[in-house]
Amino acid sequence: MQPASRLFLSILSCMAIITTVIGYSTLLINNQLSIEASYLFMPAGLTSAALAALYLALYLRTNASCRSENKDQLLMNELITQAQDLIQVLDIKGNILFVNDSWLDTLGYSQNEASRMNIFDIISDDCKSGCQANLEELLNSRGKGCFEVTYNTRDGQGIALEGNCCISYKNGKPHMVRGIFRDISQRREQDKKIIKMAYFDMLTNLPNRYLLNDRLSQAMHQARRYHQLAGLVYIDIDKFKSINDDYGHKVGDILLQKCARRLKDCLRENDTVSRIGGDEFLLILTGIKFRDDIPKIVEKIRISLAAPYIINNLRLSSSVSLGTAIYPLNGVDQEALLNQADEAMYLAKEHGGNRHCFYDEKITHKTKILRLA
Ligand code: GH3
Ligand code: MG
Repeated sequence: MQPASRLFLSILSCMAIITTVIGYSTLLINNQLSIEASYLFMPAGLTSAALAALYLALYLRTNASCRSENKDQLLMNELITQAQDLIQVLDIKGNILFVNDSWLDTLGYSQNEASRMNIFDIISDDCKSGCQANLEELLNSRGKGCFEVTYNTRDGQGIALEGNCCISYKNGKPHMVRGIFRDISQRREQDKKIIKMAYFDMLTNLPNRYLLNDRLSQAMHQARRYHQLAGLVYIDIDKFKSINDDYGHKVGDILLQKCARRLKDCLRENDTVSRIGGDEFLLILTGIKFRDDIPKIVEKIRISLAAPYIINNLRLSSSVSLGTAIYPLNGVDQEALLNQADEAMYLAKEHGGNRHCFYDEKITHKTKILRLA
């Protein structure tokens, strides 16, 4: 029974008591009260009084519990609107029904704009299909799930979020999707930096030795699949120490960066240029059909790196020695191929530098003995 009806019934009962009392008193004053009438008035008056008391008590109790419910509701609203997490309630088609202040502040939309949006309007393109699948799975599994998603802010930035979603039901049917998310953009940036530090050389931004190993196994796999060759070219700058000694370490650093740029410009997108140590670079040439295609590429690189460098108004000359091992002609073992390319590069140094040598088992064996002697 509604509180208003309880109040109405208690008022009605009170009126019944008053009418009974007035009627009883009037009859008593006018000496018209018969014994039969008093038998009638007594229970009617008592019943009305009991009913009035009952309904009044019920009304007061309901009113008190309503007041405490309202207080809880206010607290809950405050908690949701002021929460730092992004809270959203959607209908099952993704239309936004409610978002909290943090959601609006983080994404830059007004309450008015948000209430007219579908969540898929702001999910970044690369997340859309994944989110659609997640929503369908959530609806089918009747459960809750943990998700990562990127929303586009009003000014077009992507904000990475992580959170939980669950479905609420009405009459046994999915009714709303409730979600609580937190901004993980900073954490993502941090992760990117860590990955960059782990896999890239900080001075040249080229892949480092760890990433090179990964790229090399991919290149070997591709060569195997398409019956092609993969070339591993080891490059070392000739007499680089003297550049450091004569012009300073900073100039040496700039020269390394310029070398990296030139190497990238010489190669195709699918090839890899990596810096694996001080003045050492390693290239992976992919999609090679014939061994004789390699000298043309390598010569282009040698000439490009031998061109003068202008650094701090200084004109510097430099050259490189290059050595190549070929997968699968020289072998199929990754570690062995890297050593062979290194040995071929040393052979080029042995011959005075500024040149290229292929790995040749017999010749490098001979030079190795000479070097040890
Ligand atoms: P070689 O012709 O035999 O290659 O002699 P080299 O003088 O080039 O000497 P080597 O290749 O053996 O050594 C490379 C030098 O590069 C050693 C080190 O002083 C310098 N080096 C290593 N890392 C860096 C770096 O990050 N920046 C600069 N500027 N120099 C570096
Ligand atoms: Mg060197």
